[in-house]
Amino acid sequence: MDFSKQRLGQLIVVSGPSGTGKTTLARKVCDRGEAVFSVSCTTRAPRPGEVDGKDYFFLTEEDFLARVERGELFEYARVHGRLYGTLKSYVYENLQRGVDVIMDIDVQGAMQVRACEDDLVKRCLLEIFVMPPSLDELRNRLSGRATEDAAAFELRMQNAAAEMEHWRKYGYVLVSGTREDDARRFDAILEAGRMRTSLW
Ligand code: 5GP
Repeated sequence: MDFSKQRLGQLIVVSGPSGTGKTTLARKVCDRGEAVFSVSCTTRAPRPGEVDGKDYFFLTEEDFLARVERGELFEYARVHGRLYGTLKSYVYENLQRGVDVIMDIDVQGAMQVRACEDDLVKRCLLEIFVMPPSLDELRNRLSGRATEDAAAFELRMQNAAAEMEHWRKYGYVLVSGTREDDARRFDAILEAGRMRTSLW
């Protein structure tokens, strides 16, 4: 066996309720150059400070649906009333080059990726569910963000409880504690994942 041969990248799917810090965990790994972040398309409005093309590709509903029609999306779902989806070409190009790709997506999108029949995807897939320590703690963390109005906040809390029921479908569950512990454990999962035989 020639281990110098290029291995495939990992397709790292990270899900969990908003407010668990999963995006921060994913972004840190990408900032260190250990993976690339799959920038999603969305029809929701940018939050203050968010940059088009970096945080999301902000699209109109019409643009988004045209991309779906053209088969450009790997998966997509309606989350909190807005459309969100992953661009197929970006994911495949990186996996084939041996670059790990992180997808920060909801449970519906993760279900579509899991159901994908493509052998390449099956070999690369690594699924992590980031779980808040409790719903009360999640409420505290989310209210600290203050990026939403009260109705949007309550919708996120309801969706969080529904999302949390799906944790068992993921290969790994990371119950969120301190930032340092979370980052260490997230890195450990990724590192072990890179040694999976299926990537060669
Ligand atoms: P937010 O609006 O807080 O950035 O994201 C809301 C939710 O949408 C999060 O749970 C996030 O993981 C999910 N999400 C972001 N991008 C995608 C995507 O491309 N596909 C799917 N299915 N969900 C996504």
